[in-house]
Amino acid sequence: MKLFTAVAAMLCAGAAAFAADSADVKEFTFANDVKVYAIRDKATTMKSSLFSDYTKTSSLKKDKLKPEYPASVNCFVMRYNFKTYLIDAGNFDPKGSLVTKLASISIRPTAVDYILLTHLHPDHVGGLVDKNGKAVFPNAKVYMSYEEWKHWNPIIAKQKPTELLRQFRDAYNGRIQTLNFGEPIVPGLYAVKAVGHTPGHCYYRQGKLRFVGDVVHAVDLQIEHPEYCASFDADQKQAYQTRVSFLETMSKEGNIVFGAHIPFPGAGYIMKEEKGYKFDPYQPKK
Ligand SMILES: [Zn+2]
Repeated sequence: MKLFTAVAAMLCAGAAAFAADSADVKEFTFANDVKVYAIRDKATTMKSSLFSDYTKTSSLKKDKLKPEYPASVNCFVMRYNFKTYLIDAGNFDPKGSLVTKLASISIRPTAVDYILLTHLHPDHVGGLVDKNGKAVFPNAKVYMSYEEWKHWNPIIAKQKPTELLRQFRDAYNGRIQTLNFGEPIVPGLYAVKAVGHTPGHCYYRQGKLRFVGDVVHAVDLQIEHPEYCASFDADQKQAYQTRVSFLETMSKEGNIVFGAHIPFPGAGYIMKEEKGYKFDPYQPKK
């Protein structure tokens, strides 16, 4: 009874703890038994030459940027209401490192129920197909925004698909589902409009958790200076506006942000300061 009370108190307080951790996997436990596993697909850096000041009025001049910024390619697994969600899938890897990392936390590809894509760039979709172009996750439904699918789907957009997107579309044929922004996937889990990086980019919201894809690339630069856009942002004006309103919302609501390119494990809060915002890495309460 005492143990039950202590556990209940911890869950009610939203306390969390690391558990099945390794160099490339971190486990977080949140209120109501929601678990998130951060999985590092690849550690990387981003060169300052990738970034430019969209507003041309930044107090931080381009020649004062660091040569490069720490980054990562992260995927996330969320266990929520007895279902398993994979949020973004990292790069194509013929060795299947995502599958190996999932195995390290006893998750088989057949056990993934839902795949939520923030957008369809190769570093988010690549891990969904194997070296033979087959689906890595044979039972999962794959979700993305309708706007994103419309932009990249060659049948609608009449553009030549990349080989990866063609393989992805064929491998998951009949299991691809599109969402309107704000529409629930299941009760309590939503896609939120966050366009600019791509025309249909979204992030996913569950309780206080936000899986934010590429709203931000280099936290050490773009949280304090959201006016700096990565060259990957398709529409820099929209990406900048999205980032500014995202930072304001996250800081006001105190959400826990999980970013695809935030240095591993990619989790933290956005804190408002006198002059802008700061990224505060997530530290679970003991
Ligand atoms: Zn990306």
